[in-house]
Amino acid sequence: MQQFIDTYDFAGKKAIVRVDFNVPLNADMQITDDTRIRAAIPTLKKVIEKGGAVIVMSHLGRPKGVTEKFSLKHILGRVEELLGAPVKFADDCQAADEQVAALKMGECLVLENLRFYAEEEGKPRGEFATEEEKKAAKAVVKENQKEFVKKLASYADCYINDAFGTAHRAHASTALIADYFPNDKMFGYVMEGEIKAIDHVLKTPEHPVTAIVGGAKVSSKITIIEKLFDAVDNMIIGGGMVYTFRKAQGGQIGRSLCEDDQMQLALDTLKKAEEKGVKIYLSKEVVVADDFSNDANTKIVSNMEIPEGWEGMDAAPSTLAMWEEVLMNSKTILWNGPVGVFEIPAFAKGTNRIAEILAKATAENGAFTLVGGGDSVAAVTQMGFADKVSYVSTGGGAMLEYLEGKELPGIAAIRK
Ligand code: AMP
Repeated sequence: MQQFIDTYDFAGKKAIVRVDFNVPLNADMQITDDTRIRAAIPTLKKVIEKGGAVIVMSHLGRPKGVTEKFSLKHILGRVEELLGAPVKFADDCQAADEQVAALKMGECLVLENLRFYAEEEGKPRGEFATEEEKKAAKAVVKENQKEFVKKLASYADCYINDAFGTAHRAHASTALIADYFPNDKMFGYVMEGEIKAIDHVLKTPEHPVTAIVGGAKVSSKITIIEKLFDAVDNMIIGGGMVYTFRKAQGGQIGRSLCEDDQMQLALDTLKKAEEKGVKIYLSKEVVVADDFSNDANTKIVSNMEIPEGWEGMDAAPSTLAMWEEVLMNSKTILWNGPVGVFEIPAFAKGTNRIAEILAKATAENGAFTLVGGGDSVAAVTQMGFADKVSYVSTGGGAMLEYLEGKELPGIAAIRK
């Protein structure tokens, strides 16, 4: 049975908490963005305040075994500083019995990177000569995974999942471990907040509802676009994926990004939108460049008439003005994906402007604004607007799968 962090009695108990401490580190192993650590602190503090102790487990990066640069030891200082409680470290997540036994209430023990073991993800590592060999290796990892999970579960009295970013993965620490705590499992505040925010947009929003979907590819966003037709009144489509739509409509797109095999699908999607009464706002005028670089020559043209040799890179001011009008008339806004090549400063203007408009819609119209996905989140954060929108989602892939209507293993494991 699912429990709730606000009502659960943590006094004298050890809680094992799956967090997402997968933070970016520079070459000197310093954290360059601690957002994810900050996000998990309220959950950890709550357990400690209520008289419990926390055992923290996370992954960092994509190690293929024990790798110094992916060690969670690099982040301990920051965790201790933000938590304001003693933080200890177990350098092997499968051999922490003594440290767990010595852990006092009010303390925190961070376990070393779970992904140092292949059992966390349940996938074999290395090269295999044949499919049979790979299958056999997978069977071994899956078998060993049972012991791996059992060991982690043995450390604690209750389990909290607060890692929304990995909720779409059926890993040992995100899904399987919950079975060991049938009556003592719950979501942390990050998970609760994410689920509530997305559910609000999908199920109980104030209308008009507008979604902005950007990014590079039609193929990766088409499912979510169509799924959202059931929830939104307007859909703004920007970024690299628009050129596939424009080419399918008979436009000249020059060297712009295009997935020829998705063109028919793009046209079908526009038809579906019409049938469902959803208004689509594709970018119209765009900034094009003669090179994929910051110092390229640029000009503004219609994205139905991009000259040969030029490539669509960003939304032009007239397109942004059209979108702004739609957004300023919306009461609920969901944003995923950049509307231009955001990594190159010269073509980040459109994406930054969207961040600005969302902050304005929140402040001036009381719109509920939800931002998710790496680049969109980076844009609102860099612009200093993270506190000026209603909710910033920490999980890109997980958010997309949730919006697509999929049951996420990390959520299902707690609720079942
Ligand atoms: P996604 O991960 O699908 O949200 O896509 C994000 C990527 O889309 C970023 O790396 C952007 O640079 C890229 N992108 C956005 N607009 C364009 C464009 N007009 N041309 C090429 N790439 C784009």
